[in-house]
Amino acid sequence: EAKKNGRNAIEYYQESMQAYTTRRMVIESGLRTAIQNNEFELYYQPKIDLETGRLTGVEALIRWHHPTLGLVSPGEFISVAEETGLIVPLSTWTLREACVQNKRWHDKGYYTMKVGVNISSIDFARESFVEAVLETLRENDICPSSVELEITESVAIQNVDDVIEKLQTLKDIGVHISIDDFGSGYSSFSYLKKLPINTLKIDRSFIIGLSTSVKEQAIVRAIITLAKSLDLSVIAEGVELPEQVDILKQEKCDAVQGYYYSRPLPVQEFEQWYEQTYQSHVAN
Ligand code: C2E
Ligand code: MG
Ligand code: MG
Ligand code: MG
Repeated sequence: EAKKNGRNAIEYYQESMQAYTTRRMVIESGLRTAIQNNEFELYYQPKIDLETGRLTGVEALIRWHHPTLGLVSPGEFISVAEETGLIVPLSTWTLREACVQNKRWHDKGYYTMKVGVNISSIDFARESFVEAVLETLRENDICPSSVELEITESVAIQNVDDVIEKLQTLKDIGVHISIDDFGSGYSSFSYLKKLPINTLKIDRSFIIGLSTSVKEQAIVRAIITLAKSLDLSVIAEGVELPEQVDILKQEKCDAVQGYYYSRPLPVQEFEQWYEQTYQSHVAN
């Protein structure tokens, strides 16, 4: 330890840079075989209607069980997948897996279950994107209205006419479209009013300070008002505290998602959570 502290900054920097590069390489090469080796798993996080307390759906969030690195978060590997083009097979896997799981839930009697899947701008830009989505829905005999695609504002500002056309096709057949992390990107109001979408997801960064900062309250109120005037539904992500829930209720936000209700959970744990939560509602 003492020796370590005594080493100079350049050595330390080189060492940490090398560790970083090695990890990046391990991640990149691991991604190439992760699907066939069955290393991915989807976790599910509930979305709750604020007025009724009912579950409106879930968001599928990918987890990677790497053989040597352990659990790697999407925050770390999605960008690598995007840079290498590996995002395309990965997204295909994710959408299919989410559809298969949703079908199981419908068969189990979770009739209103809707699954949200995150879509990268790289996926969305592909010419065959819409057809690929439709094919996955067909193959799995899934009703389009039980699927939600979460896209970020960065998707929406590239090649607007193409984006509008794709979104319109998907929306027309009943797929639900949400703008994820809303408010954190660059979308302008003029694009927003043209986009065929259903929902705005208020970015977590505005929810964090909601119970202590009047500025955050003003922003969140403005987003909710904007959503309502554009006839969109609105959901807040990253809700952790009861005070945040109170404010969101007061401001008539439609739905919420966050650790306050549940972390993203593996299938079995999610089902336990669901059955406990909604049985106790009935019992009350
Ligand atoms: P996102 O789509 O905005 O997902 C929300 C993130 O916030 C998730 O992180 C979720 O676990 C986390 N979260 C939810 N509630 C709370 C809360 O109350 N507090 C805090 N601190 N965090 C909360 P996660 O699962 O690490 O995913 C990070 C991002 O990675 C996602 O952001 C999404 O952009 C991307 N991602 C995740 N799964 C997929 C996927 O299957 N495909 C693609 N393309 N991207 C994915
Ligand atoms: Mg999302
Ligand atoms: Mg989000
Ligand atoms: Mg976010």
